Amino acid sequence: MKITKVRARIFEWKGHTVPPQANFCSNAMDQLWDRGDSMGTFRFHGWTIVEIETDEGMVGIGNVALAPRIAKAIIDQYLAPLVIGHDPFDHEYLWQRMYRSTHAWGRKGIGMAAISAIDIALWDLMGKAVGRPVFKLLGGRTKEKIPCYASKLYRTDLNEMQREAQTYVDQGFSAVKMRFGYGPKDGPQGVRENIKSVEAVREVIGDDVDLMLECYMGWNLEYTKRILPKLERFDPRWLEEPVLADDIDGYAELNKMTNIGISGGEHEFTSYGFKQLLDKRAVSVIQYDTNRVGGITAAHKINALAEVYGVPVIPHAGQMHNYHLTMSTLASPMSEYFPVHDVEVGNELFYYIFEGDPTPVNGFIDLDENLPGLGLTLSDKYLDQFDIIE
Ligand code: MG
Repeated sequence: MKITKVRARIFEWKGHTVPPQANFCSNAMDQLWDRGDSMGTFRFHGWTIVEIETDEGMVGIGNVALAPRIAKAIIDQYLAPLVIGHDPFDHEYLWQRMYRSTHAWGRKGIGMAAISAIDIALWDLMGKAVGRPVFKLLGGRTKEKIPCYASKLYRTDLNEMQREAQTYVDQGFSAVKMRFGYGPKDGPQGVRENIKSVEAVREVIGDDVDLMLECYMGWNLEYTKRILPKLERFDPRWLEEPVLADDIDGYAELNKMTNIGISGGEHEFTSYGFKQLLDKRAVSVIQYDTNRVGGITAAHKINALAEVYGVPVIPHAGQMHNYHLTMSTLASPMSEYFPVHDVEVGNELFYYIFEGDPTPVNGFIDLDENLPGLGLTLSDKYLDQFDIIE
């Protein structure tokens, strides 16, 4: 089987979006004097979808959500010529080819995200070629079903947060993740607001549902050290990305000082990046996203590393490109799940572009043993609400 064509298209949402709200989610911009609208820089309303065609008529589908226009340009200009004419089963060789030939500028960030999209499409092709789901090529079924945690709970009115948290408990989720609205520039009042929100959610979900806390890099080391002791009484399962992704020593210091697991990795790349995090004991939970970290080829290697370091992998976002990795390793006990709703930050777009992503039942998802590849198809349901850029 030979690759004949690589087609990268941007699906840019032009439909209804939920308007931004102040103090919706702490994030890395918060410490600037002109912090802009909350989450403005992290909102993404376009995805790049990659379709790889072969001489046998099969098509593999990959995706990348970061900086879609730049991802498309990298794929068109640099990556497509490296894989055309090759056998998708040579995925390790092709990964190395893409990684090494873009090494001067592509090791982390959007360069690696673009490689991820191609790699995911290669795995989809391999699964389709042998008529088996991707997880069966990675290690197979290691769990009966995948437990998921409901991940939304942006900072709003506390009654509204409590109502939302209750819906996840009612749906059978045994874990939920909430976001903080305030950071270092909001002073003691912001600290009190942050604590009040955790208290409000914990009150509703009770002690038998795990609670995860998300900072989205909106805090700093000093602020996190001050607030951590006040959070311990709520027994959170983890505190996510308290500081910038590059501050690995900061993660390590925090992870050592508290019983609350510090988590991160959705802005880290390749097995080299994760080896650094693991060597420094910087995180207690690894949260790569397969469509950024280097695709399934890289994520599979990180799973092996995580296993020997004894650190669980709970990938960012859930979604099919991550579920197959969670299913196929004991190192990954659980998945994130973004509930389907109106387009807001942009994570939701996945459900508007693709069909086939499983919906949790009682807090669990399962993968179909009989669906070859990733099990995703492009949906035409919402096509009129996207601008498609070829
Ligand atoms: Mg996160």
